[in-house]
Amino acid sequence: MADCIFCKIAAGEIPSHKVYEDGQVVAFHDLDPQAPVHVLVIPKAHIPSAAEITAENSGVVAHIFEVIAKLSGELGLENGFRVINNCGADGMQSVQHLHFHLLGKRKMGWPPFPAEA
Ligand code: AMP
Repeated sequence: MADCIFCKIAAGEIPSHKVYEDGQVVAFHDLDPQAPVHVLVIPKAHIPSAAEITAENSGVVAHIFEVIAKLSGELGLENGFRVINNCGADGMQSVQHLHFHLLGKRKMGWPPFPAEA
């Protein structure tokens, strides 16, 4: 996708701090980290969001979770971590290319959203 920032990162057209890459996926540090470890794992193919995962493209999602498991060891997340996907407007998705946040090295809160007033 011509105007997609994560497609450009996947293609190496704009810089990122990559921690993993293979034929299907790229993982790189988030520009605005919300934890001491905050990595984004994305498919190289453009899938706009989790709402567009289908039987035809879901294989890469399984692969992303294999990569997350591998990275969790390499990044020292033996004490646990959180994986987040934000989808659509209510999910506060800001980049319209499927990505999973891998966050670790701090205690997370739960529930992850403020109670409604
Ligand atoms: P989301 O709000 O779930 O769509 O997450 C998008 C994430 O992408 C945010 O955490 C941003 O900080 C991050 N982000 C946006 N542009 C870049 C970039 N060029 N390099 C690394 N992370 C980015």
